[in-house]
Order: sequence, then C-alpha cells, then structure tokens
Amino acid sequence: MRIVFIGPPGAGKGTQCKLLTERLGIPHLSTGEMLRGTRDDTALGKLVASYIDVGRLAPDYLVMPIVTKRLSEPGCESGYLFDGFPRTVNQAELLDRFLTENQQRLDLVLNLVVEKAELVTRLLHRATIEHRNDDNEAAISARLEVFQSQTAPVLDHYRKQQIVATVDGMLAPDEVFAQILAQVESCR
Ligand code: AMP
Repeated sequence: MRIVFIGPPGAGKGTQCKLLTERLGIPHLSTGEMLRGTRDDTALGKLVASYIDVGRLAPDYLVMPIVTKRLSEPGCESGYLFDGFPRTVNQAELLDRFLTENQQRLDLVLNLVVEKAELVTRLLHRATIEHRNDDNEAAISARLEVFQSQTAPVLDHYRKQQIVATVDGMLAPDEVFAQILAQVESCR
C-alpha cells in the first residue's frame, strides 16, 4: 500500500508511522529525517539547516530529488508510508505526476487531527527530551502556521481524489492506532 500521513507537528505522526510501517512491513519515508540527514558543514547542509531550524519548509528543488531518489531505491516496490510529505499542493502535484509516470497511485491519505493547545504542550514536552533545534517556541509557532497555510490545503487536493480518512489524534496512542488500522483495512 502507498500511504500518505498528514498531521500538524506534535500530532504523534512519528509514533503512529512507526507502528503502522512495522505492522504493514513497508518503509517509513520521513522527509524530515531525510533532510536532517543532510545536515553537515557543506553549503548544501547549511542551506537545509537554515530552513529547518526556523520552522520553514525547505524548497521543492531540495526536497523533490531526495524523495524521487528514495522512491527508486529497492524496498519501495510493494508500498511505503510518507511522513511529512507532501507538505505543499505543489509537492502533491509533483508526486501525482511521478506516480502516474510509474503507473502507480496512492491508496490512502491519513489525516491526523489534534487541537492546537495540545500540539504546543506535546512539542514543548518533546523539546525537553529530544533537543531538536526546531522545538523552541518561535520555531514551533512558525511550523504550526506553515501547516495551516501550506499543508492543510494538501488535504483538499486529496479529498478530490476521495482517498482521505480522518483520525482523532486526541485519543490515547493505542486507540489512534486502532482507528488507523480500521481505515487501512477498509481500503485493502
Ligand atoms: P518533520 O520531521 O516532518 O517535523 O520536519 C522537520 C522540518 O523539515 C520541517 O519543519 C521542514 O523544515 C523540513 N521538511 C520536512 N519535510 C518537508 C517537506 N516535505 N518539504 C519541505 N520541508 C520539509
């Protein structure tokens, strides 16, 4: 199955994606992790970090080659789960084009919904554990704003394809996972 997981920062995407990829035996493709992996002392690494650290989206010309290269690697033939991609309507359209060219299509877009106050609480808590550069108050607020303005419209793009399923991310993690599994089963 080819699945896209959409949710604001702090919604619990990482946890749920890990559970789901283990259950389905498909690769977990996190563009955030891929981009963090390019952080180094080169000009490119510093450029990527300059976007991530302030909570802004990296430009498509940096993101798309990383994604299409990863999709062409062994292991993605029987499906994958995207976490954090596509994050703009333009990325969604570029992914559609890539899939069509390869005679493929997405099966499901999971929309994980969590109230804003809860997101901020979870992200500030995570900051005390993971020490990510973008888990400070200014970057958190920028990432939430970017989600609303640039990523929420991606859901409308996929609603036209009738593949969006909404999941209540306010529930306990095992209840969220049960909802996700039910959605996955219903489109198998
Ligand atoms: P995440 O780990 O998904 O929260 O992503 C962390 C950061 O990586 C984001 O705030 C962006 O700066 C960058 N990023 C991740 N995925 C994308 C994407 N699809 N397009 C642009 N930037 C991205």
